Amino acid sequence: MRIPLVRPDRYLTSVLAIEPHALASDGIAGLIIDLDNTLLPRDTSVVPDAFVAWLAEMTARFGVCFVSNNWHERVHEVAAELGVPLVARAVKPLPFAFLRASRVLGLKPRQVAVVGDQLFTDVLGGNLVGALTILVEPLSRTDLPHTLLLRKVEARIMRGMTVEDRREDGL
Ligand SMILES: [Mg+2]
Repeated sequence: MRIPLVRPDRYLTSVLAIEPHALASDGIAGLIIDLDNTLLPRDTSVVPDAFVAWLAEMTARFGVCFVSNNWHERVHEVAAELGVPLVARAVKPLPFAFLRASRVLGLKPRQVAVVGDQLFTDVLGGNLVGALTILVEPLSRTDLPHTLLLRKVEARIMRGMTVEDRREDGL
């Protein structure tokens, strides 16, 4: 199935595989990052230490904003703990929250990479506003029932597209 708007520009195992040099050379100056199952495993609700360290590295080089469809207190707590601005109740894939997050970062959407674990929220929304889109594998199998259902459709769309974690020497 070839549907450009729900196909990511990159497909990686996790945020840890994102290469800052490659992003910068693509003209990317900011990251809009999903929380649930991208940085925050749904089964623990705690951001793993490796991701906290990664995030510190990213915020030193890029503008970073979280965009989450979630509205629970926990996502606000996590964003506050990490010192990253959050646009919650985002209603992804609608473009509004991505546009707002871009404004928070002082960037145009095309200067931003949208990073998330879902095609129909993160990737579709990011593509709609003209951002670079990076799909990562979900951190846990636990998710909302409708998300688990959509994962079957995602698997069809992603057929033939494999995780591409970049080679160290490719930069
Ligand atoms: Mg997610």
